[in-house]
Amino acid sequence: MTDLAVGIDIGGTKTAVGLVTRTGEVIARLDAPTPANEGGDSIVSAASSLAHTLLHGRTVIGVGVGAAGVIDSVARRVVSATGSLSNWAGTDLGRAFEAALDLPVVVQNDVHAHAAGEAFVGAGRGHGTVLVAAVGTGIGGAVVVDGQPQFGAHGVAGHLGHLPAEEAAGILCPCGREGHLEAIASGTALHELYLRLGGDADVQDAREVVRRTDNDQRARTAVVTSARALGRCLGGLVNVIDPDIVIIAGGMRRAGALWWSSVEEAMRTTAMPLVERVPLVEASLGDDAAIIGAARGAFESLEAVNQ
Ligand SMILES: [Zn+2]
Repeated sequence: MTDLAVGIDIGGTKTAVGLVTRTGEVIARLDAPTPANEGGDSIVSAASSLAHTLLHGRTVIGVGVGAAGVIDSVARRVVSATGSLSNWAGTDLGRAFEAALDLPVVVQNDVHAHAAGEAFVGAGRGHGTVLVAAVGTGIGGAVVVDGQPQFGAHGVAGHLGHLPAEEAAGILCPCGREGHLEAIASGTALHELYLRLGGDADVQDAREVVRRTDNDQRARTAVVTSARALGRCLGGLVNVIDPDIVIIAGGMRRAGALWWSSVEEAMRTTAMPLVERVPLVEASLGDDAAIIGAARGAFESLEAVNQ
């Protein structure tokens, strides 16, 4: 038995690969741009090449992959993907990585892997039930129970960006439906909301909207509106799941005090009194979370098989 696994995180823009210990320490890592327009074979081949370089003859228990898109962890395939990765849906990740690396392979979604990493050695360490909201250009998430991200029947579980939010009524969500949280509370949506409110057309992104909240009433309104929508959804989830802790990951976690206080107030006033004091914290692992979570998936699945 070996104490190392390869963790692979395939995102829409970047692929990162690490050698990860059983206790969740990354001892070596490499990353490179994901060849997003070149199809599944090229994406797998780019990731495998990074893994080969890192492995350099070292023995590992296997490979854990966290990949963008909806992933069927049992079939180890990409079920569906957004437009950011072309010819990605249908890719047989299990077989492709096994062929490339000659190692056993375990596959999950990248947000699930990220959440598993945070729950294992990040902000959720030591907690049994962890709710992770990943709020960036889009919104994803996961519920991790005793270290295991919940995949659901189709690999879709945790997609909290597609909860209904009244502020998003009539606004098209990237998933194709209207009225979802992601359409009002992602970074992209915050910027669009600011422009709809009549904000300065020269403002380019959510980061700039956040920076203007001291002096620009429209920026304040946009930030508070989108943060409250997120907070209410989190409060509703707290009522359903009763987590030990709620973690916010993704770029919007740097959106500042007004955003955080608006999220928190809405979450606590929506949560039932018994659960309203649940801790709400920022993710702590940064870029390595998904590598660690993917490797953790490999340790758990492959050792269970070997026992
Ligand atoms: Zn949606």
